[in-house]
Amino acid sequence: MRGEEQKLRQQIIDHCLAMNASGLNQGTSGNISVRFGDDMLISPSGIAYQTLKPEMIATMAIDDASGSWTGPLKPSSEWHFHQALLQDRPDANAVVHAHPTYCTTLAILRKDIPACHYMIAAFGGNNVRCSDYATYGTKSLSDLAVEAMKDRTACLLGNHGMIAIGDTLPKAMWRAVELETIARQYYFSLQLGNPVILSDADVEETLAKFTTYGLQETDDRKNYPARKAKNGRGRKSQTMAAGTGGES
Ligand code: 13P
Ligand code: ZN
Repeated sequence: MRGEEQKLRQQIIDHCLAMNASGLNQGTSGNISVRFGDDMLISPSGIAYQTLKPEMIATMAIDDASGSWTGPLKPSSEWHFHQALLQDRPDANAVVHAHPTYCTTLAILRKDIPACHYMIAAFGGNNVRCSDYATYGTKSLSDLAVEAMKDRTACLLGNHGMIAIGDTLPKAMWRAVELETIARQYYFSLQLGNPVILSDADVEETLAKFTTYGLQETDDRKNYPARKAKNGRGRKSQTMAAGTGGES
């Protein structure tokens, strides 16, 4: 395994652990993927993060809808939407999915998050959409996620949780934390009255400033090599029924 791939695998584990230690996510729900050339590296399904080793992270081709993977453990049951988002969004190199309490509470209420705070601009527009409901691990959920994520870098999944994307994994995780924060603020403001929502002009102004604002990173970007021509590397395939994922 090449050094940069090893580094990304370890980065996935570190962020899975941090996601649970911070209280953003609970138990074995939630999953993380990163782009590695034409492949995605993705956390395995239903695994206690403390037991993860770099070689347990599954590899899947981004353009292969069959569900084939390489690795000792089956990939996250949500591989459909991880794959679809990396396909649909060349700006994204990492996808974080979790079930944080306030995001999920709003998702149960099927509420979009409006421009209740200027930090909404961290997600690319004047709201964060909440998708309709579909069963976890399905292609239908993936289609809904791609739609809710249009022109945005985060979305809520109806009666389920949230997704954040980023050009690096630290950036996607930064967004996940900011999303849970704004969800909490919106939730509490709803308890006290009618939140004042910022105008589109206010959001536009912040969006312009946000082209140079956000998590400052050092050299992480070099770990996300651009898509490359097929490398012919032998893929020891295992196949999972496409559309059903696997049980988590
Ligand atoms: P996995 O354990 O299969 O990654 O699934 C957890 C989850 O969040 C399903 O939506
Ligand atoms: Zn989930």
